[in-house]
Amino acid sequence: MQSSRMTHLTPYTAGEQPRDKSYIKLNTNENPFPPTGMVREYLREIDPADLRLYPDPKMTRLRDALAEINGVGPENIFAGNGSDEVLSFVFYGFFDSVAFPEITYSFYPVYCDFYGIPYTSVPLRQDFGIDLPGFQRQNPAEPVILANPNSPTGMYLTPDEISAFLEEHDSNSVVVVDEAYIDFGGDTCAKLLNQYENLIVIRTFSKSHSLAGLRLGYAIAASVLIDTLFTVKDSFNSYPVSTLAQELGVRALSDGEENRLVVQRIIETREWTSQQLTDIGWRVLPSKANFVFASMPGRDGASLYSELKNKGILVRYFNKKGIEDFVRITIGTDEQMRILLDTIGTLS
Ligand SMILES: *Cc1c(COP(=O)(O)O)cnc(C)c1O
Repeated sequence: MQSSRMTHLTPYTAGEQPRDKSYIKLNTNENPFPPTGMVREYLREIDPADLRLYPDPKMTRLRDALAEINGVGPENIFAGNGSDEVLSFVFYGFFDSVAFPEITYSFYPVYCDFYGIPYTSVPLRQDFGIDLPGFQRQNPAEPVILANPNSPTGMYLTPDEISAFLEEHDSNSVVVVDEAYIDFGGDTCAKLLNQYENLIVIRTFSKSHSLAGLRLGYAIAASVLIDTLFTVKDSFNSYPVSTLAQELGVRALSDGEENRLVVQRIIETREWTSQQLTDIGWRVLPSKANFVFASMPGRDGASLYSELKNKGILVRYFNKKGIEDFVRITIGTDEQMRILLDTIGTLS
């Protein structure tokens, strides 16, 4: 009964969201803290009658607020149902082929299969960093997408490094920087947008703003590129961003200072956790994200993952060549990380 298109689909495997018992959930990079005050207040006060109408298809208020925060115009902003949706529109709208790191966000090859886009995967460096010279040796006219900080490694490229890369890249071919984790200590590439008309920066409210359940992400780019994203969206769904998501996005942005404190706590807990794991002999990659990618000496990632799961702690393991020894551990509260470290201490 299926269409012929179904034969080549390989869906993304999302991190587990188990309902069987309550785990300490350190597997999908969710924020352990609740959303900020204005978000909570709006949810208490919203008039259900506001939901009678369709959302604003141009997302005007949200785009105005995002433009102001990012120092660009609203014509430079597109928003979607999570950055995953924004990314899928970017793949559809800009890639006849694309290059990305061999180890990165595993949705990228899934979108390629979905849309029939051929891709080049560029190996990481020995130290697990992204090999920009490796990309430069590819066809400079082939579009590129980089997660920065990268997932699952947490490793980060500076805007200077990305700018040097853009200098060598064909200015008629887009370079996409997926900044899902940029708030956790990295420096954004958004400041390069006025120099490079082929740059697209992607962000999400899921991680630093504690709104993974809301589904809200956005792109910042030159207005001609944003127009393309609207053409893709309007050929697919006029209203992917609900009224609630548009309104809550505006509220979340207005809580900048409160959010900065939340993010700062997570950064401090990350640094503490990295140090503790290093002290007991683990290898921990340097992270600018809300997770660490780490390996325990003498043990593979799969067995570490399942033993921790048995003991009530969920982390993420990727069955992929080169990273079989690692697990990705989301930074939770101090208390959760102490329990994690105590539990690790009981492993033989
Ligand atoms: C989490 C994540 C996303 C998806 O975020 P949503 O906005 O929740 O869809 C995109 N890119 C990377 C690298 C991520 O880790």
